[in-house]
Amino acid sequence: MPIYEYQCHACKKEFEALVLGKDTPVCPSCSSPDLSRLMSKCGFVSKSTGPGGESQVTASSASSACTSCSAGSCASCGMG
Ligand SMILES: [Zn+2]
Repeated sequence: MPIYEYQCHACKKEFEALVLGKDTPVCPSCSSPDLSRLMSKCGFVSKSTGPGGESQVTASSASSACTSCSAGSCASCGMG
């Protein structure tokens, strides 16, 4: 249920309204359609992810390692 919280610009009244489709509510106090929408308590929850957005980098020694063995250099396997 899309329940939004509004504040009337005219009389500053805050109220919640159920909004269906493109219906726009009016102030229940003064019937003004000049409203600003506030964050709803129960309409939706927006949760931001933590800082960083870490991506795990796999440590690789492939740049210096022999392709046919897991050694750090080719000195142990005789290639190159
Ligand atoms: Zn009002």
